[in-house]
Parts: sequence; structure tokens; C-alpha cells
Amino acid sequence: MSTTSPVRATVYGYPRQGGGRELKKAIEGYWAGRVTADALRTAAAELRRANWRQLAADGIHEVPTGDFSLYDHVLDASVLLGVVPDRHRAAVAADALDGYFAMARGTQDAPPLEMTKWFDTNYHYLVPELGPATVFRVDPAKQLAEFAEARALGLTARPVLVGPVTYLLLAKPAPGVAPDFEPLALLDRLLPAYAEILAALRAAGAAWVQLDEPALVQDRTPAELAAAQRAYRALGGLADRPKLLVASYFDRLGAALPVLAQSPVEGLALDFTGPAAANLGDLAAAGGLPGKRLVAGVVDGRNVWINDLEKSLTTLGTLLGLAGRVDVAASCSLLHVPLDTAAERGIDPAIRRWLAFARQKTAELATLAKGLTHGTEAIAGELAANRADLASRAGSPITRDPAVRARAAATTEADARRAHAYPERAAAQRAHLGLPPLPTTTIGSFPQTAALRSARAGLRAGHIDTAAYEERIEAEIREVIAFQEEAGLDVLVHGEPERNDMVQYFAEQLTGYLATRHGWVQSYGTRYVRPPILAGDISRPGPMTVRWTSFAQSLTERPVKGMLTGPVTMLAWSFVRDDQPLADTARQVALALRDEVADLEAAGTRVIQVDEPALRETLPLRAAEHGSYLAWATEAFRLTTGGVRPATQIHTHMCYAEFGDILAAIDDLDADVISLEATRSHMRVAEELATAGYPREAGPGVYDIHSPRIPGPDEVAALLREGLAALPPDRLWANPDCGLKTRAWPEVRAALTNLVTAARRIRAEL
Ligand code: GLN
Ligand code: ZN
Repeated sequence: MSTTSPVRATVYGYPRQGGGRELKKAIEGYWAGRVTADALRTAAAELRRANWRQLAADGIHEVPTGDFSLYDHVLDASVLLGVVPDRHRAAVAADALDGYFAMARGTQDAPPLEMTKWFDTNYHYLVPELGPATVFRVDPAKQLAEFAEARALGLTARPVLVGPVTYLLLAKPAPGVAPDFEPLALLDRLLPAYAEILAALRAAGAAWVQLDEPALVQDRTPAELAAAQRAYRALGGLADRPKLLVASYFDRLGAALPVLAQSPVEGLALDFTGPAAANLGDLAAAGGLPGKRLVAGVVDGRNVWINDLEKSLTTLGTLLGLAGRVDVAASCSLLHVPLDTAAERGIDPAIRRWLAFARQKTAELATLAKGLTHGTEAIAGELAANRADLASRAGSPITRDPAVRARAAATTEADARRAHAYPERAAAQRAHLGLPPLPTTTIGSFPQTAALRSARAGLRAGHIDTAAYEERIEAEIREVIAFQEEAGLDVLVHGEPERNDMVQYFAEQLTGYLATRHGWVQSYGTRYVRPPILAGDISRPGPMTVRWTSFAQSLTERPVKGMLTGPVTMLAWSFVRDDQPLADTARQVALALRDEVADLEAAGTRVIQVDEPALRETLPLRAAEHGSYLAWATEAFRLTTGGVRPATQIHTHMCYAEFGDILAAIDDLDADVISLEATRSHMRVAEELATAGYPREAGPGVYDIHSPRIPGPDEVAALLREGLAALPPDRLWANPDCGLKTRAWPEVRAALTNLVTAARRIRAEL
């Protein structure tokens, strides 16, 4: 399988913060005034250098530049193009660095750019704001400086930029611009800006520049595909430019593949992992990329499992016949995985061998490149080790637990259906719960107090024992219950003081889940998360929440809601298995949660909430796959909740999204009550549910918990009246948008008191 021209290894981006979280510390130190701008710049430059040296030492032949960011690479693209909202212009003019952070985080008088999910990952980018008056003013200083830094290390470097079509497709109309303005209309104005950047990079010595166009893996209209064609004809036709590598990832290119293949660019980077493996057949059908460079993303850049090197070699072997030159890469930027498995000393070394974080993935790429260039004999040792690790994973009892598999296989359609239709359940619940019209409740968490945080830290450090920690939790629960009774809420919660995180808390108690100690992944800016790993078959050794819910219920006559994280969210915020369909993993998690629901009910819990905030965000990128996703996702929810008695009321909660396009799926959950984030428009959410014929009860949020603002009773009452225009009083709930854990007690006391006052006032009018 060896070729005459060497195959090279490359990546599109690398984790930014450093092994010791140095970047986060430097940036937050700068915000707090503890670190100077110069010290921040120096720390950032050192991290970049360390990363490039590491990549080169591990065998990466061509390193990316410009992917590094102090906050977000899409914000960096906006700065590169001079796209600064009017409200931030003064801040940017006064100081470029402070202006940059002002766009990212907002200031007292200027809200930040909107933040939203980067495709279907858990990374969030800052949305560019554009309008007919937008003028692009190129400032390539950051790109040029970072390219020069890498070159100074003697490395072959390739600047990476967000491509023009993706940049426009990710943007939204600026405030004050007509909402139907389409940013793509600015393409002809944007292309000269890109031409200018390319010329500058060429002059600086860049042989290749990578333009990322992940938006082209989504369903695109003929007009959008035509725009991509125009863009790459124009950029390809420039005289003064580096060679162009147009990169796509997260899915197959589909209809955009022939568009890019026929454009006058020198290279394409395609994803060949997971569903994007369909790119292989598509590429062959399109006649390959004769004369072009193909960068083949064969190592999964967004999951944590070791690569099947032999399988990748086979894929690459096929690809060698389809392009002028083939290089190997991770399927996308390594930004989406943690840095290094070596730091995970808490994970059994035998299991650690199944895992590949960013550093291990670069080693895999180097191995693949070496095998293709020098023949597989040259990598015989690596192949043997890889084969052994794959076999160890496939044959492990962690991977396959016969009891879990037998139970999942025996699950029937009926298990995922409640025995009674909603109207009968509603009558039984009304009798059982005795709630007033417009019942009041909250979403689950209450403020995480300083005492609680210090108890948690104390337990971790061994300063206090479990008994002392649990005493603290009980004290928190007592306070939360007492407040809710005093405020007059109808359905109470225990406040979730025992939870560090809504997914990790359950992951730690389920068999088959792995937790990492240092597996940080950037969510946005300086916020990093440590997603647990769904490593094996999932089972529940014992009850997870019953103790705290029962304790809370013992303190009050009013119903206390049991509170669980749903199966879809458990998957969405974890690294998932790559050796079985997501639907199978979801079913295992659902069955474990179903047992928890049964235990809660048996312990006397009358209301149980199963949170699914991630249901909408996990929707696949292509519409053709939505149906099958929603089918297994809603089935997993129903499997979790379907076993309860008719009088037990099942709630669900969703946030972080608009739900207009998945109302049918929400209905399919068959939950008795849904609480939804509705900050943008209470009325619209209620109306959408009513128009869609949603037959059950709903609580569009009337208190925006993302803001320190406290809505007064009149404001809440006005929102509830709007809701009543769409839904009758026995089906409308009064609740906040989401959990209260990030708010302070004084705000929460005032806001919830006002919420109850407003609900009571309206009840009196009924
Ligand atoms: N029950 C959770 C809480 O209140 C829900 C969190 C969420 O929706 N993200 O914190
Ligand atoms: Zn929420």
C-alpha cells in the first residue's frame, strides 16, 4: 500500500487552553485585573508555540495557524473582516483587546453578540451581525502574526480561516436590520475582502490556506449552492493567492461535493467518519478529485475512541486512487476533544487504552501517514497494539453486559407507552394532587450557595467527611422547602444541592459511564466542560435520587417533584459509544432511568420531572435524518416514564432553543406537563403549542433566569394573561424559564414571591 509521493499528516485545529488550563486562567485573570494585557498575550503565544512543537514532535507535518483564539474563532473571523456591531465600535476603537471581549461578553450598556451552537457540537460561537450597510474592512494582523510564529519554529504552517459562505450562513441580521435580510446577499462584497486576506497570507509565505466550509454539509438550497460555486470560482480565479484547501466536516458534503470538486481550488478536506463515510461513495461516483489534494479526515475529531487503523488504511487506500495527492487528518478540529489521556490516572489503564484524546489522535495520524508512505511493515508494532486494544474493548464485559442486552432486547412498544390516555391521567392527577388553576412551580435547582460549594470542595479535599457533607445537603433542602412553603408555591422541588452537574451526577452513579478528571472541552469562551464518557453497557446499581427527594417530601405536605435528567440529554452532553447506534445507547440509559422513576414513585413521589433540554439541539444536521432521530429520542423518553400509574404526573423541561419545529416530537413524549424556556416571547410559545393542538399542560417561563432582573407581579401577571389567551387556566402553569442555580437567593426570593402573587391575582379573576 505504499506510494511514491509521501502522505502527510495534518490537523485543522487544536485544544486551546493548555494542559494546566493556562489560557482560561490568564484570560479570567485579565478580566479580573490580575493579569496585564502583555502577560495575557505572552501566555497565549507560549501556548501556541507549545502546541505546535508538540504537534511537530508527534509527527504532524503541516500545522494549522490562526485556529487559536482568546474566545471564539468565529468572533476572530468577524474581527478579521472588520465586522464590529455599532454598539461596540467605541470600545474596539479605545482598545482592541477590551473591545474584543466587549463583543464576546457585553458591557454595562452594550449586550454581547448572540451565542449559539457550532453545528451539532457542544461548542458555542458568537453570531456575526450583518446588514445591507455592512462594510468589510480587513485586518489580517492576527492571522499574519500567528503564521509568522509557527514559521519561526521552522514548521510548515497552513492558516485556517472560516470560509466566506459559512461565515455568511452563520450570521444574522444586525439589530435594526429587517429580519428577512439574508447575509448571503453580501457575498459579492465579501469576496474581495477574502482576496485581500489571501494576498496578504501569500505575501507572508503561505503556500496553502484552509477555508472551512462546514455549513456546506447541511441541507442547502440551490441558491446557496450557486453562491458556493460563485465564491470558489472567484477565489480560485485570483492570480495572487496561496493554494486553497476547502474543508468540510461533521457530515457528508452531498450536493456541495460536485460544486467544490469542479471549482478551481487545489484541495478539498472531507470527513470520512460516522455518517460522513458516505463521502467515499459520493467521491467515487463524482469521478474523484483528479489532480487535486484530498485531505482525508479518517480519525474521528469529535469523539474519544481509538481509531481502527487497519480500517482507516483501507479507506485511505481507496482514496489514493481517487485524488492527485492524499493526506490524512482528523475529521474536524481537535478542539472538540480533551487534550491527553495520559492525565487520566483515575481511569483503569486497560480502559484508557481504548481512548484517544487530541494527543493520541495526532499520534494515530502520524502512524497512518507513515504506513501509507513506507508500507504497513513500517508500522507493524502500532498495528498490532491497535488490534489488541480494539479486541480488548470489543470483548470486555464493560462493553457487553448480557443482562443489560437481554433486557433491552425484551423491551416492547408497550413498555414505552403509558397504560392510560392523557385525559384519563389528567383526571386522576387532578384528584390525586388537588392543584389550583395556574399551578406554580420551579424547574429544579435553587441557588448553589457558598456554604454548599465549600462543603463540596471540603469533601473532595478530605477536610470534611460524607456525613458532614450530607448534613449540609439536608440543611440546604430544609431551607429550600421552607422558602417554597412560605412563598406559596404549589409543586415544590428539593433544589438539587447534591448535584455538581445535571449529567455528571447521574453518570457517576451508573455502571458503564466513565468520568474524566482533566477531560476539559471548550463550551464557549473560558467555559470548559468535562463530558463523561458512555463507555459500556449502562446499568443502575441502586437508586440515585430517591434519598434526597424523599427527605424533601418528608418536610412538607405539598407534592415534591422528583428530578431526573432524561436519556437524550444524558447522551447529548457525554461522549457517546461509536460501536453501536445511538438509539441502542439511549435505550439502555432509558431503562436505567425507568427503574429510578419506579423507585421514586414507590417512595411516594407524585410528580416526576425528566429534563430534556438537549432534545432540540441534538437534531441531526440533515433534515432527512430528523425522523429517525426523533423516533428513538422520544421512545427513550417514553421508556423512561411509561411505567408509572396514571395518577403520577410526568413533567419534562426544555430550554436553550426554539421549539417550533419539533412540536410534534414534544407531543410524542406524552409527558403530562412541559415547562419551556420562553424568554423571547411567552405568548408565542403558548400560542404555538395551542395552534399545534398540544393537548396537555404547559408552563412557558415567566421569569428569565439568565438575567439578574426581577420581574414584578404586574409583569408576570401580564405574561400569564397572554398565556391564558392561548391555553385554558387548568392547562397553564406558572414557572421560571429554567433552573435557579446560577442566581442569588435574594433575587430568587423576590422573583418567586412575585410569581406566586401574580398567579393568585389571576386565579381570583377566573
Ligand atoms: N432541573 C434542572 C435545573 O433546574 C434543569 C436544568 C436545565 O434545563 N438545563 O437546574
Ligand atoms: Zn432549562
